[in-house]
Amino acid sequence: MDALDILTDLDNTVPFFQPIFSADEHRVIGYEILGRYKTEGEYKSLGPFFLDENIPEEYRIEVDNHILKKALQLCLTLDSDIFIFINRDADLLMHGDEEELLQILLEFEEKGISMNRIVLEISERNYHGDIEHLDHLLNYYRTYGIRIAVDKLGNDRSHLDRIGQISPNILKVDLLALRSTNTSPGFQDIIYSLSMLARKIGATLLFENIEMVYQLEYAWKNSGRYYQGFYLHKPVPDFVDRDILKDQLKKECQHFISNEKKKLEALYEITESFQLKISELLQKYRRLDSYEVLLNSLVKDLDQMAFRMYVCDEDGFQESPNIFKGKDGWVIQPEYLQKNWSWRPYFLENILKMRKEKKGILSDLYSDIETGEIIRTFSYPFNEKHYLFIDLSYEYLYEQIGLL
Ligand code: CA
Repeated sequence: MDALDILTDLDNTVPFFQPIFSADEHRVIGYEILGRYKTEGEYKSLGPFFLDENIPEEYRIEVDNHILKKALQLCLTLDSDIFIFINRDADLLMHGDEEELLQILLEFEEKGISMNRIVLEISERNYHGDIEHLDHLLNYYRTYGIRIAVDKLGNDRSHLDRIGQISPNILKVDLLALRSTNTSPGFQDIIYSLSMLARKIGATLLFENIEMVYQLEYAWKNSGRYYQGFYLHKPVPDFVDRDILKDQLKKECQHFISNEKKKLEALYEITESFQLKISELLQKYRRLDSYEVLLNSLVKDLDQMAFRMYVCDEDGFQESPNIFKGKDGWVIQPEYLQKNWSWRPYFLENILKMRKEKKGILSDLYSDIETGEIIRTFSYPFNEKHYLFIDLSYEYLYEQIGLL
């Protein structure tokens, strides 16, 4: 596809629209505009053209704006609550006449497309320019009611600080990485960080490139409100019935809900059985006169499950040494006595919860700071003041249904 061919044949550059569906209504809430070039009876993506840095920026902007105008003309027929997602590479956005995009949008605002339906998808992956200028421009657009989305997230974590700075309305997370069998273990952490960040800054998560049902389930489980991808609908030259997937999505969502409920029930049952087991053991060993002796006794019963145990007071000061299962078996680690753990996430909340409810707590999955393994901790109120912590080994979690 030759750049010059495209530039001299603007009539054959056209917009395609990919519908975006919502989790709360299971219907179309917006369209992303994508550029296509009609050649030899086929529509080819203009993505590579827009990203080709060898083509002068003004030419790429010209084609982009030409397609945008055609798209907005078609969008005039849409319901007035449907969002219109417009892609802009940060470099192109900053190049030349920054007002041109705004002028086009203002022109169509007069015809009936309100500015607060416009979502500007910014991709700054290869941005070379001045960050402050870009932020300034985005804030300027925002004053018109335009929403900002950050595009192509999920591939690395370097963008987290920028997202905080831009404070976008929408985070577009790319699920392409989830398709391959060797998805990096860090991917789930990035998605988790993004969902936490989105919650903090009040942004909505949009998952794109959903190509299989398991990716849709993943998006749903990871707080995704908006979904886009070939599994739902491919880009098309015109608009679709908003309710085209309503029944299917509702059915699938019910399936996800029931899967998740089963997992939560299983986890609840497991927590209950830990509760029973530990309380029986502590009953059995209650006459032992030091925590060290107690931990040594527990080792016999919990050897298959645990790799570390210790006792803390309600302020997080360790009242016992660690007992730790190393390569050569269990060892006492006295150096941990009186260390303080109150700074750890949820520590004090969990202590309070255990004290009030007189029950143990099974933690979520997390990486152990020393071993780096994925673990869970079962903590248990030993008495009014002291709490027993049992770190469960990865091997144990792996063997149990519902713990990983
Ligand atoms: Ca995009």
